[in-house]
Amino acid sequence: MSPDSSPQPDPARTAPHWTDAHNHLQDRRLGESAPIIAAMKQAGIDRCVVNATRESDWPQVESLARAHPDFVWPAFGIHPWHAHTANTGWQQRLANLLESHPRASIGECGLDSWISAPSMAIQTSIFSEQLELAHQMDRPLTIHCLKAWGALFDALASTPTPRRFLMHSFGGSIETARRLIPLGAFFSFSGHFLHPRKAAQLEVFRQLPLDRVLLETDAPDMAPPAEFLTHPLPDHHHHPANLPAVGHALAEILGLPPRDLAALTHENTQCCFG
Ligand SMILES: [Zn+2]
Repeated sequence: MSPDSSPQPDPARTAPHWTDAHNHLQDRRLGESAPIIAAMKQAGIDRCVVNATRESDWPQVESLARAHPDFVWPAFGIHPWHAHTANTGWQQRLANLLESHPRASIGECGLDSWISAPSMAIQTSIFSEQLELAHQMDRPLTIHCLKAWGALFDALASTPTPRRFLMHSFGGSIETARRLIPLGAFFSFSGHFLHPRKAAQLEVFRQLPLDRVLLETDAPDMAPPAEFLTHPLPDHHHHPANLPAVGHALAEILGLPPRDLAALTHENTQCCFG
């Protein structure tokens, strides 16, 4: 074969493939899911973990997972902000849902003392039950922790925990991360950390073991600064197709080619949630 006739690389095959480890595609603020998912695929995003936040949005996450089985990995859970909305029997309904979705994880759940209500007692009770269910059913779990590290370590010490869990949009210190790693923690980076006031968190991510680093949007929240918004939305909402721009920034922070960062975070998401 002459050099002229050698096949040219197909850009669709050589472009990085990105994985969003944490978003909320079911959130009404994003509008219709079909154009959002089309834009994500167009941007090179192959897969995402879609997190419910309360029992009332479990059906929307479930229908996204049924409609897009190769693209959406569902997570069902109760977010600490909604811990007071858990209705009697939620544990059994969550277990049934996990039973019918073998790929599903538990999330988003956790602890948050930045908010004043629901109380830490209510949050801890709902969180611990989700930890225990994840352990019993051997499912990974996604944790939101804001200004509640002591309560988190207490819960992890007093409850059987799953083998793997994600600290989403991890805002803790490297010392906190080092305590969590032996317990099975992974850590995801969100575009929110690209705001100059969050610069210290970049150093934490530089020090994490590379095999524990994931990438997320948390769309429609946690938008990065304007220069990373390749897909702007009204009201500063974060479009999940902004993920590659955040990925390129994280690649630079970690000193990796974007393609390698995309492959690494894909593999780590697979390892945490697969
Ligand atoms: Zn979230």
